[in-house]
Amino acid sequence: MSAPLRSPRIAIVGAGMSGIGMACKLKLAGIEDFELFEQWSDFGGTWHANTYPGLSCDVASRYYQYTFAPNPDWTHVYSSGHEINAYLHRVADDFGLRAKTSFKTPVDEATWTGSEWVLRTKTGREGRYDFVITAAGGLVRTRKPAIDGLEDFAGACFHSAEWDLSVPLDGRRIGVIGTGSTGMQITRALAPRAGYFELYQRTPQWIFPLPNFRYGPWTKAFYRRFPQLQQRAYDTWAAFFEGTFGRGTVQPGFWRKLIQAGCRSHLRLAVRDRKQRARFTPDDEPMCKRMVMGTGFYKLFEQPSVELVDTGIERVEAGGIRTTDGALHELDVIVLATGFDAHAFVRPMELTGHEGVKLSEAWADEPFGYRTVALPEFPNVMMLIGPHSPFGNQSLFSISETQQDFAMGIIERWRCGEVDAMWPTREATERFNEEVRAAVPNTVWATGCDSWYLGKDGLPQAWPWVPSRHRELLAELDPTDWKIQRAEEPVAAA
Ligand code: NAP
Repeated sequence: MSAPLRSPRIAIVGAGMSGIGMACKLKLAGIEDFELFEQWSDFGGTWHANTYPGLSCDVASRYYQYTFAPNPDWTHVYSSGHEINAYLHRVADDFGLRAKTSFKTPVDEATWTGSEWVLRTKTGREGRYDFVITAAGGLVRTRKPAIDGLEDFAGACFHSAEWDLSVPLDGRRIGVIGTGSTGMQITRALAPRAGYFELYQRTPQWIFPLPNFRYGPWTKAFYRRFPQLQQRAYDTWAAFFEGTFGRGTVQPGFWRKLIQAGCRSHLRLAVRDRKQRARFTPDDEPMCKRMVMGTGFYKLFEQPSVELVDTGIERVEAGGIRTTDGALHELDVIVLATGFDAHAFVRPMELTGHEGVKLSEAWADEPFGYRTVALPEFPNVMMLIGPHSPFGNQSLFSISETQQDFAMGIIERWRCGEVDAMWPTREATERFNEEVRAAVPNTVWATGCDSWYLGKDGLPQAWPWVPSRHRELLAELDPTDWKIQRAEEPVAAA
């Protein structure tokens, strides 16, 4: 008779998309001894934190969802952030995760004792775990611009991820700084509502004209009646996103050229006036910065009440924004759509691993990992959406599920008593990172633009291969890449 399965104690840090997904996988495997820690007051992660007008996702909803919890009720091909957040809440509640989640409880630190993790929260709690799963998201820490006088502004001023819902918007003079995906979405939502609207552009962005369509009641009824076809739809959208943007970002050739031609034609057809078109035309290649998607953006600027401001910002004053040409742009509201510190993975939580190695020191130069999921000297730590997890315009649900499944494989080994602790070797991790560096020149992110993909060394911190390579590399555990610890034989090479 085989020995009964052991029951691991698991801490999941973060109750957004990745944390919820991981917890559901544990439940599906019959593991109940886990706890989620969430810094915010509810589920949802980025979809909880961001509430800006126009918030939506430019990855198709039938692909931007869990494979184990398909939603027949998406209202659009590309759904709103509100709807995605409601979906995440529904899944979390369906799986009974509320009772297992401590909200408003940021994790301060976790320390490996040699046989378990001791985790401490900022609220003073302490717990002991066999595994720590980091699911804290990649775009969390807001990046505020260093513009003189921001604090002197007499109106309302906030970052896009810290939206002040009490501030009235209709009919007011609004300035948005930043032309990334966020700035574009806010512009589309607010320009028609504002009395006067200005978009402050430091660098123009290419926009791929991806149209959005509403799903009618028949589509919803169809997917409710035939839930098995949801997987078919998921696979079809995955094939589309992976085959086009997934390939185009990491390989020169047909798809890159086609997508780039799509962006250029979109701009040419939407902005007929040459002078105006020149103002919207980036110097860099389409997709070098994270591709912005959508339609209807350029037309907004045909309205007299909507202005593109591409003169530099000198400073902010009580009355508005002073540009370098001396003009004062009087405003009631300034929105900073200036992005995030996209390399803050896991931190500010401190991890202290095998032999006292600290995460903050290991990552002092750049965050790195083994195949996006693990780190040398950090036993039984699994990272979800860790370093090199950003893929070109792909579904983070899909990437995270691949990582969750890999983590489940290790947890199952632990359950069976095959391992007590394991972590990737330094050699295997260095080899992986060497391969990443060698692949980087093929990527569009290395074609000469500044973007949040780039690390301090100027190299993209994104996945430099097609998405299927990630699944291949995480499909099986290569035991020669890992150190394994068993209680009876402390640390042995696998
Ligand atoms: P972002 O892509 O980093 O864009 C930040 C913008 O702010 C850039 O246009 C940048 O200009 C500008 N900026 C920064 N500092 C400035 C300054 N001091 N003065 C003037 N302009 C300044 O940030 P984001 O738009 O928030 O998007 C971040 C990521 O979130 C996206 O790339 C995407 O991965 C994710 N996102 C996804 C969706 C979706 O639909 N899936 C939607 C929103 C966000 P420069 O280009 O000159 O630096």
